[in-house]
Amino acid sequence: MSDATFFPANPFDAGDDKLHEECGVFGVVGVTDAANFVALGLHALQHRGQEAGGIVSYDPETGFNSARRFGYVRDNFTRQSLMDTLPGQLAIGHVRYSTAGSKSAAIRDVQPFFGEFSMGGAAIAHNGNITNADALRRELIERGSIFQSSSDSECIIHLMARSLQRDIPARMEDALRRVEGAFSVVAMTRTKLIGVRDPLGVRPLVLGKVADGWVLSSETCALDIIGAEYVREIDPGEMVVITADKGVESIRPFRPAKSRFCIFEHVYFSRPDSIIGNRSVYETRRQIGVELARETPVEADLVCPVPDSGTPAAIGFAAESGIPYGMGIVRNQYMGRTFIEPTEQIRNMGVRLKLNVNRALIQGKKVILVDDSVVRGTTSRKIKEMILDAGAAEVHFRIASPPTAWPCFYGVDTPQREKLLAATMSEDEMRDHLGVDSLKFISLDGLYRAVGEAEGRNAKCPQYCDACFSGEYPVEPADMLQKGFKMKAAE
Ligand code: SF4
Repeated sequence: MSDATFFPANPFDAGDDKLHEECGVFGVVGVTDAANFVALGLHALQHRGQEAGGIVSYDPETGFNSARRFGYVRDNFTRQSLMDTLPGQLAIGHVRYSTAGSKSAAIRDVQPFFGEFSMGGAAIAHNGNITNADALRRELIERGSIFQSSSDSECIIHLMARSLQRDIPARMEDALRRVEGAFSVVAMTRTKLIGVRDPLGVRPLVLGKVADGWVLSSETCALDIIGAEYVREIDPGEMVVITADKGVESIRPFRPAKSRFCIFEHVYFSRPDSIIGNRSVYETRRQIGVELARETPVEADLVCPVPDSGTPAAIGFAAESGIPYGMGIVRNQYMGRTFIEPTEQIRNMGVRLKLNVNRALIQGKKVILVDDSVVRGTTSRKIKEMILDAGAAEVHFRIASPPTAWPCFYGVDTPQREKLLAATMSEDEMRDHLGVDSLKFISLDGLYRAVGEAEGRNAKCPQYCDACFSGEYPVEPADMLQKGFKMKAAE
């Protein structure tokens, strides 16, 4: 039996109708009790993955130490007895949803992963998804590697073990040149904190400064929680090697490529209090609402967000349209893990456990509901029923992203293509299926304008990854093609 604290499946995630970011990564060097900083950082990144978390630290006296647990950061990494086992001035951590690894709970799939090499140990934490992991794993197993997890990220450790380079950063460069797909990696040796972004920079990674130390984080909101100053983003294709005494060394191990950052980070994944590309995520989302109102006007009495992710876009929509904004749906902030083993009756309450309608506000009104996305459409249908049950005269859905018609292979948990509502239905069919008076999505160009591209999307050379909307994948998903996935042109 492992040291896993088994985490009961969250009953409220059942049928959850959102795309899920898969991971958050965080690392600190040059501060006393670095693991405590990492725990706080991971807590701020919890929205990027709630299934499990792990921290590895290094201390000259006790060597590498690690703790990996299922459940929320606050439920594990706040215990003094656990944190005392993670001493040292250098630590990295990871929170995970579950991507390429096993969907069933297995502590061996929880990162950071650790490898012992001839020149010392190294731990790595990976956000993203390796699109050629199956092929790499087959090759590595044939050549004698013994895998311990089902995670794609473990390939990096085995590739590093096979490299002939003399130091760990150079071995990591070697390994990552073989890897395709999306990766933002935070790694550590006994003395170095290392951060790398894939050549397209699909997933985020930022650099911060705290006291005499340095920080790497998926998002800036996790710098704020430890009082760190935001320094800059790690560039696409950049590797930084950071030591407490020498500071930051920047290396460019990959062939230069045009950046294709995930546009969905702006729409939904990142926290609204984070900064991406020198833009406030909140302000971008508000601007999406402005564009949405311009593109899809409708006569109504009230603009309501589907909380919490639809809120900034609803504020922008209301401001642009002149229609009053109101909290027509209220989220129960405390439902979390209250009911560990719900009865069937409670389970069937589904969305109502999370969201409740503010009946007094919406009764008799024509209501515009602003949500960030429609994935399967199951939640949208239930929300519509709740709004109509509460006496709304009309329900109009306005969606702050284009129709999600393609799965993501770059580190976001998406249903198979046929389960995506927009993959099988036109916009009108979706409207009828959801049973609403109107349903409109922001256009791809509108979304690009909202994230700061005044001319919209450059069709010949898109500025972002938008594959889940456009079907144009910036990195060929080799493993999925092998499994029979059909790209857009091949349909
Ligand atoms: S496919 Fe969508 S969710 Fe995935 S990286 Fe691209 S834009 Fe982001």
